[in-house]
Amino acid sequence: LRRPLERDEFEVFYQPKIDINSRSIIGMEALVRWRHPELGLISPLEFIPLAEETGLIVPLGQWVIREACMQAKEWHKVMKDRPFHLAVNLSVRQFASSNLLEFVHNALKESGLAPDVLQLEITESLVMNDMQGSIRLLTGLKDLGVRIALDDFGTGHSSLMYLKRLPVDVLKVDRAFVEEITKSDRDAAIARTIITLAENMHLDVIAEGVETVAQMKQLRKGGCSKMQGYLFS
Ligand code: C2E
Ligand code: CA
Ligand code: CA
Repeated sequence: LRRPLERDEFEVFYQPKIDINSRSIIGMEALVRWRHPELGLISPLEFIPLAEETGLIVPLGQWVIREACMQAKEWHKVMKDRPFHLAVNLSVRQFASSNLLEFVHNALKESGLAPDVLQLEITESLVMNDMQGSIRLLTGLKDLGVRIALDDFGTGHSSLMYLKRLPVDVLKVDRAFVEEITKSDRDAAIARTIITLAENMHLDVIAEGVETVAQMKQLRKGGCSKMQGYLFS
């Protein structure tokens, strides 16, 4: 993993986020890949855990943030006054690294990107160990103008306590609930409830992993018009 960083073998792919009411792209999510010279494209699911273990996630994550900010600056220009944001995923070690705040601040300054275009996607597992410290860091990021999304919501070590205490702006309905939304009443009920919860808390809500028209319609019926997934791109 150390070598591909030096050799520039990482690439950022971008998945569009759609508002089906306005039928337009409202943002992008940055998803890193490793283009291995022999093995081809390697999914982050395979190398992020290793990068976490070795600590290399910190320089890799920094590279992604910088890349994404520069790309977002270009797109934001083209989008003019239309809403647009760029989401970047953060993992545990990155979140715990001491200079995250300073790094994000510098990446914004260097790229000239308006801070509110950047959205950082965090999961509950990032904040579990140190709630106080996490709230401080998130508040610092929000003071820069950056927006925070809670990814994979409802999976893992979920507690509404996180939602109550963390300064987040966006809730992402996990693919796990979208997957069965048209087949299982229970999944549909959970998805609807998450959407309502977000609404009541004045949070933005977006569903991920939308693959079929039926899923799209069901989500829309439940009150969620923002989504991303293979159905779109
Ligand atoms: P995630 O944040 O939950 O990202 C969504 C994953 O679902 C992506 O996989 C995306 O390609 C995939 N996906 C998107 N639409 C669909 C769909 O309609 N159906 C299905 N089945 N899958 C869909 P990917 O790119 O392999 O990323 C996996 C995970 O790796 C991400 O999960 C994220 O946690 C992590 N990751 C990706 N890029 C970065 C990065 O730059 N930094 C960090 N720290 N983590 C990253
Ligand atoms: Ca994500
Ligand atoms: Ca997710």
